[in-house]
Amino acid sequence: MVIDWIRRKQQGGELTAEEIRELTEGFTRGDVPDYQMAALLMAIYFKGLTAAEGKAFLRALISSGERQDLSGIPGIKVDKHSTGGVGDKVSLVVAPVVSSLGIPVPMISGRALGHTGGTLDKLESIPGFRTKLSAHEFRRILADVGCVLVGQSDSLVPADRRLYALRDVTSTVKIPGLIAASILSKKIAEGANGLVLDVKIGEGGFLPNEEEAVELARLLVSWAEENGLRTVALGTDMETPLGHAAGNAPEVIESLKILKGEISGTRLTALCELQGAMMIWLGGKANDLCAARQLYREAVVSGKAFQKMQEIAHAQGAVADVFDNFEQKVRPKKKAAITAPGSGILARIHAQKIGWGLVDLGAGRKKASDSVDPTAGIYFVAREGDTVKAGDALAEVVWSVLEDATESLARLREAFVISDKPAAERPLVSFVCDRGDCRTVRHSEELFGIEERELAATSKGETCG
Ligand code: URA
Repeated sequence: MVIDWIRRKQQGGELTAEEIRELTEGFTRGDVPDYQMAALLMAIYFKGLTAAEGKAFLRALISSGERQDLSGIPGIKVDKHSTGGVGDKVSLVVAPVVSSLGIPVPMISGRALGHTGGTLDKLESIPGFRTKLSAHEFRRILADVGCVLVGQSDSLVPADRRLYALRDVTSTVKIPGLIAASILSKKIAEGANGLVLDVKIGEGGFLPNEEEAVELARLLVSWAEENGLRTVALGTDMETPLGHAAGNAPEVIESLKILKGEISGTRLTALCELQGAMMIWLGGKANDLCAARQLYREAVVSGKAFQKMQEIAHAQGAVADVFDNFEQKVRPKKKAAITAPGSGILARIHAQKIGWGLVDLGAGRKKASDSVDPTAGIYFVAREGDTVKAGDALAEVVWSVLEDATESLARLREAFVISDKPAAERPLVSFVCDRGDCRTVRHSEELFGIEERELAATSKGETCG
């Protein structure tokens, strides 16, 4: 049985849809042990999955739990998801912004995966915030508040919860068919009608180059649309951490500042605005991305977006004033500075080294049973392209639990490259895929000139002006 399937995948063979269903059901029940599933995952990692196998995994993951019927909640339900990156906190910002505009946002997210951070671990750094809700609570909070941010549970894609946790600690995340099945199972099961996907390109995610990212984006968009989920995918830079902070509570702190309008004009806020505008447009509240971005900005400036974040946190278990003095509530016990070893230009901050350094520090898991240190993280003081002198602060590292952080700090230090030349500029957005077509994007602003509903098809070349 399972041992035959492992052997077949080792030899490059194919599993039938029925075998994948049986395997997934057995694994979810606990009848297929982790060690056999891990062996199978490793065989798949090296030999790959056919499209038919990937789609069979998608169906098996969806049917492992309840598929939500949200037809009783008015409006087009819209969600977003990223393939995973370092410092990628876009979900924490756009979910409250978009839902504050009356667009329901049902969001099933994941935990940290490999060297990348996870929305659930970030949310759980908010004292009292519950991410494990029943399907009934999920629908009730979505109906009452307009947004619900949860993880997989016994009723919501339980098979993805188990498989995701195992892939995390067996270094088998990077399997395109399983990434697509994992992401889309959550989005289809939660009952979303529209989806914005951020496919990360570069060492900080799981797709090292644009070619592989486009391939995954095409897969995601076509499987989503086959399941009736209107989906737009972006390919965006993940060579360097996104934003000023990485780690769980540090990223919540940064997100709250963005929601209050205290941080703007950065690559991170541009990406939030773009993905938020796409969600607003898919949600039918604006006819084009320019108008959608205007609504997004008004939601932040008016304070509605921050207020919505407070409502969501309170509905999911946090006290009503949880974000008052939030930094004090998640204050780390320890900190250390990373300083420039020499003078020059800070040419690179390697996202993957930061990601693994943070796992070491306690912000992620090395084995499935590990708990995370919610306070652990890094604040970037200098950014790529800055001129620095020897001894200048490059970053501040914070944590509470780890006794001896020497190795983690060494790993984090290695991420910073000082050179006499700046690194070549990388575009924030490289491509957009919509309605089966992907096209290159030179500058994210050009997307705001598109008025047709088929994003990839045409560009008028105008911007919001
Ligand atoms: N996000 C997911 O939900 N699943 C993956 O496999 C990767 C990123």
